[in-house]
Order: sequence, then C-alpha cells, then structure tokens
Amino acid sequence: MKHPSHDPNCIFCKIVAKEIPCQKVYEDDEILVFKDINPAAPVHLLLIPKKHIPMLESVTAHDAPLLGKMLGLVPRLASQEGCRPGKEGGFRVMVNNGADGGQEVYHLHLHVMGGPRPWKK
Ligand code: 5GP
Ligand code: ZN
Repeated sequence: MKHPSHDPNCIFCKIVAKEIPCQKVYEDDEILVFKDINPAAPVHLLLIPKKHIPMLESVTAHDAPLLGKMLGLVPRLASQEGCRPGKEGGFRVMVNNGADGGQEVYHLHLHVMGGPRPWKK
C-alpha cells in the first residue's frame, strides 16, 4: 500500500508500495526491512521508514520514536539474518547523508552489515 507521503520518483517508496519487488526481511506498519540488492557484506540489510524522509538531516523531533524503533530492531534482525553473536561477530549500522556522505537513494535508510570478513567495502 502507498504511504500517504509516497514520492512517485523514489525507488524505496516504490518498494514500500510493492511496485518494485524486494527480498523482505521484516515489515510492520511503519518500517520495512529488505536485503540490499548489491550487498557489501555477507549480511547487508536496509531498514527504511515507510514514510518518505529524504535524509537524516530532514528528520524532525516528531520522527524520534520512529528512528528509535528502527535502531531497536537492528540487533534482532541482524542475528536473525546470520550476523554472529559475541566479540568475534557483530555488525555495522550506517547512515549515508548527502553526496559527501555517499548517499545515493534519497529515502532515509539504515545499512546493517555483518557476517565474516573480508567484506566487499
Ligand atoms: P546509499 O548509498 O543511498 O546509502 O545506499 C543505497 C543502497 O540501496 C545501496 O547499497 C544500493 O545497493 C541499494 N539499492 C539501490 N536500489 C535498490 C533496489 O532497487 N533494491 C534493493 N534491494 N536495494 C537497492
Ligand atoms: Zn521515498
């Protein structure tokens, strides 16, 4: 279903609206999690709000609970998707913001990367 904030030019909004398929890992009313199409690590997930928020710098105080919920989901989903526990395991959480930050898709997303090294990036 299209979110009220749906941006027809945004690839991640199209994934939320199921206009483009994805390898879904988790979904609730506010959040969608799927596998990155070009994984940089053995586990590479993208966590997105269904709401079209272009960048980390466009979040408002109103979005704080949503961002907290996204971050709170990370450990469980990372482990569910194969990130190893303990000191030898773990995962990386990353947000690219703007061109200097390496952002390519202007719909806020958390990268979650893990699995045995070496990684591609
Ligand atoms: P950014 O550089 O904006 O932080 O990251 C965008 C990420 O989205 C990249 O890692 C890229 O591989 C991934 N990506 C771009 N288009 C698609 C898509 O259509 N499907 C999926 N699953 N991932 C995508
Ligand atoms: Zn969007």
